[in-house]
Amino acid sequence: MEDTFKHKGWRMRMCKALREKGITDERVLQAMEAVPRHFFLDAALDAMAYEDRALPILCDQTISQPSTVAMQSQLLNLQPGMKVLEVGTGSGYQTAVLCSMGVKVFTIERQKGLFDKTRKLLDQLHYRANCFLGDGYVGTTGKDYAPFDRIIITCGAPMIPEELMKQLKVGGVMVIPVGEQQQEMLRIEKLGENRGDWKIERFGGCRFVPMLSGKQF
Ligand code: SAH
Repeated sequence: MEDTFKHKGWRMRMCKALREKGITDERVLQAMEAVPRHFFLDAALDAMAYEDRALPILCDQTISQPSTVAMQSQLLNLQPGMKVLEVGTGSGYQTAVLCSMGVKVFTIERQKGLFDKTRKLLDQLHYRANCFLGDGYVGTTGKDYAPFDRIIITCGAPMIPEELMKQLKVGGVMVIPVGEQQQEMLRIEKLGENRGDWKIERFGGCRFVPMLSGKQF
């Protein structure tokens, strides 16, 4: 794997396009300029790695398109040192962007094939995320990692997962695409410990692979 001047040039152009699309969080832009997205894709897709499109990865899943990664990262409103839970590790690209923004990342993937490959890759590239094989619907239940400052869901959830809202701090934020065939991007702020004590903001239509229950071997 090599990060050449050609790749760096493509990445600069990608970030310029992200700015034009309304991404203003400099930390997000810096991270996306730093993380080599082509490392997270099959070598055959190298030339497409910096186009604004979702691309296939292992296990019939997809890497989110750069503008979606940028939007979700920006909606999280991250500060360095925060504890962030990601559901849907997939290729690890979003995970790497979060790591390079200086937050502590906990990421869950339900497909064993992807989990094994991506954990190894993140490690090789020195992105220090805590990777879990499991069902994101239950978050990190049974372990001592919750509560989180932020939660990001990178698959389409049929509804807001209540267990995950429990694992969010009061004042914390979840960014999640909600819907069956199509989703709407929601930013949910947890206002108090009572169920439904949430402030929900909507950020338009999107399309993700589905959030499914249980592990897949
Ligand atoms: N962030 C990833 C997105 C991958 S696509 C990237 O940038 O590459 C979404 C991923 O969510 C898939 O890998 C899928 O297997 C995973 N997923 C779906 N439902 C899940 C669940 N309940 N728990 C954990 N991962 C899940």
